[in-house]
Amino acid sequence: MKIHCDCCGKFLFNLKTDSMGAAGAEAQRLGFIYKMPGVFYHTDKLSVIFCGKECCKRWFKENVSQETSEAAKPQLEAMRKRMKKAADEFPKHLDNFLGVIKHAKQEIRNGRKMADVLNDPGMETLKKVVQETLKEKQKKNV
Ligand SMILES: [Zn+2]
Repeated sequence: MKIHCDCCGKFLFNLKTDSMGAAGAEAQRLGFIYKMPGVFYHTDKLSVIFCGKECCKRWFKENVSQETSEAAKPQLEAMRKRMKKAADEFPKHLDNFLGVIKHAKQEIRNGRKMADVLNDPGMETLKKVVQETLKEKQKKNV
């Protein structure tokens, strides 16, 4: 599908899929602005893409009223807090992850096969990471 700026209508880029998530990721990669006003501002469109800051500002001014914007503030604040909490908890997840890697190393040293160890309970995350890394490697080798 063709992606245009949601404010001025300028053509931005072509996308092979119809996924708005992919469109958002590609827009950000290319330096355009991707927002999801539908979540908090209940706009007609769930997500929007703009060519630049000016278009973004203008669109929000025209599509989101001052009242809606004020009403959404507590929700936005709550989300910000939740994200901060997740960031604070990250080291804990990391500890857990290091434990997983230690377990894998030990088992392999004991003579077990890597693929076998990855099927142990609690190894799901590492298994996914390893599989994704292998896939990346294969892609590069082609
Ligand atoms: Zn624009």
